[in-house]
Amino acid sequence: MPAKIQILPDHVSQVIAAGEVVERPASVVKELVENSIDAGCSQVIVELAGGGIQFIRVRDDGEGMTPDEVPLSLRRYATSKIREAEDLFAIHTFGFRGEALPSIASVSKMTLQTRVRQSISGTKVVCVGGEIKSISETGCPVGTEVEVRDIFFNVPVKRKFLKSIRSELHQALNHFLKLTLAHPSVAFKFIHDGRTLHELVKAESPHVRVEAVLGKEIYDHLQLFTFEDGEIRISGFASLPSISRKSAEGIYLYVNQRVVRDRMVYKAITEAYRHVIPAGRFPAAVLHVVVPPYAVDVNVHPTKAEVKFRDPERVFQAVYGALHSLLEPASFVGPSTREEAFIPSMGFKESSAPGPPSYRSPTQLSFQKGYEGGFLVARDAFPVREEGGEKSRVRILGQIHGTYLLGEIEEGLILIDQHAAHERIVFERYKREYEAHSVPVVQFLIPVVLELTAEESLILSSYLEELHSMGFEIDQVGERDYALRSAPSLIPEKDLTETVREILKDVAFLKKEGREGEILHSILISLSCHSAIRANAILRREEIEELITTLSTYSFSATCPHGRPIFFVLSTEDLAKQFKRK
Ligand code: ADP
Ligand code: MG
Repeated sequence: MPAKIQILPDHVSQVIAAGEVVERPASVVKELVENSIDAGCSQVIVELAGGGIQFIRVRDDGEGMTPDEVPLSLRRYATSKIREAEDLFAIHTFGFRGEALPSIASVSKMTLQTRVRQSISGTKVVCVGGEIKSISETGCPVGTEVEVRDIFFNVPVKRKFLKSIRSELHQALNHFLKLTLAHPSVAFKFIHDGRTLHELVKAESPHVRVEAVLGKEIYDHLQLFTFEDGEIRISGFASLPSISRKSAEGIYLYVNQRVVRDRMVYKAITEAYRHVIPAGRFPAAVLHVVVPPYAVDVNVHPTKAEVKFRDPERVFQAVYGALHSLLEPASFVGPSTREEAFIPSMGFKESSAPGPPSYRSPTQLSFQKGYEGGFLVARDAFPVREEGGEKSRVRILGQIHGTYLLGEIEEGLILIDQHAAHERIVFERYKREYEAHSVPVVQFLIPVVLELTAEESLILSSYLEELHSMGFEIDQVGERDYALRSAPSLIPEKDLTETVREILKDVAFLKKEGREGEILHSILISLSCHSAIRANAILRREEIEELITTLSTYSFSATCPHGRPIFFVLSTEDLAKQFKRK
């Protein structure tokens, strides 16, 4: 009988170990680009085919490897970057575990070519599934080029776990961009299926790189900041309250220039922005935390995506403090009035969930709590006009805080959220017009130019038709530039770009979730949201009248398309109770 416990053959243990480092094409891109940066290069070209599943090629002009270094670099725990365990606590390079190249080699077909400056020829090694097939002398430029084909060709289970080309590309691009932000002095290029998606020139200052990667529009809302607390240094760019995003994807975090995820730092960021941007939304930020190497352990995660701070609380305070002082001029107002104070003075622009209801200030909450089971009643439908009746049943009393409308109805007092109400009306209208192919549009004499990120441009190009049927006529005019020639007439011109962006973001999200069926609906919602009157807009009496009359024409559901309530009724009976008349 064979022994029950056996040592795994090398090729099996290698594949197991590789699993920790190589999860998908994006991990390969990350490891290879980090190696290039460690090699002191001034330029990196990343080329992918089929989302990186077909092939990934990374070429740099760094220091290269000598012929005897090449086979070593493919051995596990072979690294030029540390010598002693102690060195782990004074790391200045990205790599140090000596795992990336052997891991990548063991799950792909890899070819590496490299040459050092002092030598007239280079070395080429071909590896299949971790096995070196050949090593030969070759002519090649100074630097290193690694080509990785057919990732996971020998680990079918892993290959099955790969997502669509688009999704793999998205992740690879994401990792790539994160690295480029931390190294403005290196030039980068990213090519996919022959198309250059990003070309980033060597930049003297981080500003240029941040603008190139995040796009001018976001860049315009960013503020540079630096903050020091003893040996902790926090610096970077963070967005002003004038923009916010639906996801945390616009937050780029670096610890000692290393791309990391850190829940605690994210928490410090969201805390600093609390009450400054609407709940559930995120700022854009490129945030660098710099601490002495001994104050952070970078060897806690196989791909080094997480770190462990020696004194996390101090880092939290520093990040929070840095952002808080940046945002301070904006946050002097008390919680209940903060929004009103913001909007006019800071050009506060809410893009997807406008209006105070999404932002529940403490006062709002306690108000509702205090009257729990009490008099604020959400009803099923807005009081409709009586059959054949001419007049609306609502007698308008006025508007408060530029946001809510008050009216008297037979049952008592009605409070209406003007944005939510209008949003519902516009939504119903768009739906009808869309179905009848008659969405009213404006044609622009001078097209509005949209400068999109590579990813946005990818989505846009596959949804041009849908957008067209909604009234957006868009042509591609540059690599990532688009000309918007017409748009639904209800959207204010200044909101156009933001609206398109919002739509693309939603489409990407729904696609990722496999909810394509909801895309149309979601576009309609975005359109309505941007076309509807905002909170904090003083309405004339005629406008209020029109809004309420339109509302009472239909038997609407009681919520806006986002699902927030449109109105509440404070019943006469409850009023009486409140004043102890009953
Ligand atoms: P690590 O980066 O942790 O040292 P890797 O497996 O990524 O481990 O790389 C092993 C070694 O191969 C590196 O330490 C480095 O000496 C060499 N190497 C890898 N990529 C390059 C490159 N692009 N240019 C020069 N040397 C490289
Ligand atoms: Mg490495």
